[in-house]
Amino acid sequence: MKDRNEALALDRADPLAALRDQFALPSGTIYLDGNSLGVAPKAAAARAQQVIAAEWGDDLIRSWNSAGWFALPRRLGNKLAPLIGAADNEVVVTDTISVNLFKVLSAGLRMQQMRDPQRRVIVSERSNFPTDLYIAQGLIEQLDRGYELRLIDDPADLPAALGDDVAISMLTHVNYRTGRMHDMQTLTRQIHACGALALWDLAHSAGAVPVDLNGVGADFAVGCTYKYLNGGPGSPAFVWVPQRHQRAFSQPLSGWWGHSAPFAMSPDYRPADDIGRFLCGTQPIVSMALVDCGLDVFLQTDMQAIRRKSLALTDLFIELVETRCAGLGLELATPRGHAQRGSHVSFAHPHGYAVMQALIARHVIGDYREPHVLRFGFTPLYLRYADVWDAVEMLRDVLANEQWRAPEFAARGAVT
Ligand SMILES: *Cc1c(COP(=O)(O)O)cnc(C)c1O
Repeated sequence: MKDRNEALALDRADPLAALRDQFALPSGTIYLDGNSLGVAPKAAAARAQQVIAAEWGDDLIRSWNSAGWFALPRRLGNKLAPLIGAADNEVVVTDTISVNLFKVLSAGLRMQQMRDPQRRVIVSERSNFPTDLYIAQGLIEQLDRGYELRLIDDPADLPAALGDDVAISMLTHVNYRTGRMHDMQTLTRQIHACGALALWDLAHSAGAVPVDLNGVGADFAVGCTYKYLNGGPGSPAFVWVPQRHQRAFSQPLSGWWGHSAPFAMSPDYRPADDIGRFLCGTQPIVSMALVDCGLDVFLQTDMQAIRRKSLALTDLFIELVETRCAGLGLELATPRGHAQRGSHVSFAHPHGYAVMQALIARHVIGDYREPHVLRFGFTPLYLRYADVWDAVEMLRDVLANEQWRAPEFAARGAVT
């Protein structure tokens, strides 16, 4: 692309263009961080007001029934299910990814312990998001049964890491740092061929790329709602378990919300015989209620249309950075092949942190991940092709004029 007018023409022909108006985007900002915290849907403010003033304020405790609070984790789970190839009653919205990983990892290990107690290995990737690895490490220590975390450095090493000692694999579909996407179908087949269970983390996939969990026959999945699903800061995560596994095992956080009859107030834990078994305690209703608003936007389109635009946006971004910022020190860290690319693009730069701060000061918001990686997320629901053009021009200016050298761009906050 040689001219901004070409980007404007693509925007005029974009079938998703009208959805942008449903988001409360700050004016003058190009937001390329929807992979970390999605933009607020405009409907969220009114929904928060309703939950706080009417449901909590006026109706108080009656709202557990009358406003459907108690049913929210399942109702939202069913609403999210089609986006990830899940069926009704296979998903609940609850807790965080970290907590849900603890639940499904330990449940999976227990299932394997009953089938084949020699399987004591959890396979994952060294480049996985750290919390996934931390949770596995903590669980292994807690169980104290000689479990082991086996980390691979390249997906090509997976077949070699899969032996008859492997209980479960825990892979993230789209890598948080590089945007590299796994072939979920092929890897799930390899994992099953060795007798292990396949757990997928969909943090950077749900709402970003088409996922077909039942189609590939995966065993468990977790993901969050505050990234591409636009649920709000700290909105609860989700956990998927297919029908075939739901009664097969127990999860360790056996709280009353996972009981088959929570209000029977029985002293004995009896797990629900459905996906409700993965709930633990009282849910954060105010935050959870807003997940509805993000999901409502997805009901107006489909993941194929979102994927088409996502690839067009990331293709354009890569092309423009490589042509217009050529020789300015950026190196593509994301695969070029569509089948290996999620919905964000990363470039390495030796002064990546300062470059990103300088860019943010110009109201182009992406983020930075160690080491040296500039991340740019592309959310097709609210981004325009012209935004891609403008963001690259700003990036070129920051680099060509070395604006990032200003001392204020070296200071680091607690969150990068
Ligand atoms: C964002 C992200 C998380 C976040 O986990 P929380 O417990 O919800 O904070 C976990 N795993 C991956 C792969 C992520 O990208």
